[in-house]
Amino acid sequence: MRKEGDILSAFLSVDNIQMIYETPAEETVAVKDVSFTAEKGRFISLVGPSGCGKSTLLGCIAGLQKQQKGTITLDGRDISQSGGSIGYMLQSDNLLPWRSVWRNVIIGLEIQKKLTEENTAYAENLLKKYDLWQFKDSFPNRLSGGMRQRAALIRTLALKPQLLLLDEAFSALDYQTRVNVSCDVWQILRRENKTLVMVTHDIPEAVAMSDRVVILSKRPAVVAKTVDIDFGPHRPDPIEVRRHPRFQQYFNTIWKELIK
Ligand code: ADP
Ligand code: MG
Repeated sequence: MRKEGDILSAFLSVDNIQMIYETPAEETVAVKDVSFTAEKGRFISLVGPSGCGKSTLLGCIAGLQKQQKGTITLDGRDISQSGGSIGYMLQSDNLLPWRSVWRNVIIGLEIQKKLTEENTAYAENLLKKYDLWQFKDSFPNRLSGGMRQRAALIRTLALKPQLLLLDEAFSALDYQTRVNVSCDVWQILRRENKTLVMVTHDIPEAVAMSDRVVILSKRPAVVAKTVDIDFGPHRPDPIEVRRHPRFQQYFNTIWKELIK
C-alpha cells in the first residue's frame, strides 16, 4: 500500500496501469495492474520474467503507447503533456555510422530544431566532462562498445530530459564492459541529477544501480514486491557497492521473489 507522503513527494507516479494488446487474432493482457513511484533523482529498476510486460510499461511511461487503464504523471502532469522531458535508451546504441560522434550527439537537437548556442554548449560540455571530446570527429566504428554507449547517453542528455528510461541498455555488452559502463552511466546520471527507470535482467545490476527495485510477476504483470535499496548516505558506486555486506542480502530477497 502506498503512504500519503509517497504521493506528495513522487516525481514520477505510475498508477494502476493496465495494458492490453489487441490483434485481430487475440487479446494479450501484457500488464494487469502496476503502480510505483519515483522521487526526483531516484533510480528505479524493473525486474521480472521475460515477456512479463517490462518494455510495455516503459513504452507507456515514454508516451509511445497508451495504456487502457491507469495514469502516469511526471511532476504532477499527465505524461502526454511532458513532451521533451523524457529520454529513452534501448539496448542498441543506434548511433548513425555515417555521422561523427559530435553529429550523432546533436542529432536530437537538430531534429527538434533546438540547435541553439546554449544547447550546443551544453552538449559540448557533456562530451568534455565525460571524456569523449577528443573523439568528437571520429566515427562510431572507432569507439569501443562502452564509449558508444556513453555517446548515446550524452545524445539523450543533450535534450535535457528530466526522466531517463533505459530498456536493457547494457545487455549487448560483454560482462566486464557492462559493469564498467553501468557504473559510468550511474555516475553521470547522479551528477546530472536525473531520475531513472531502467529495465534489467541482471539482479546484481539492479541492486548496484537502484534505490528501489520493483519486481514484476509473470505476465500479465502485477507488482510482486518492491524492495528499497539502502546503502547509506554515502552510497558507494555500482562497482564498489558489490562488496557491501548488505549487497548479497538484497540479491537473495529479489532472487527468492523471482523464482517463486
Ligand atoms: P518484456 O519487456 O518484459 O520482455 P514486453 O513488454 O515486450 O515484455 O511484452 C509483454 C507481452 O506483450 C508479451 O507477451 C509480448 O508478446 C506482448 N507484446 C508486446 N508488444 C506487443 C505488440 N506490439 N502487439 C502484441 N503483443 C505485444
Ligand atoms: Mg523487453
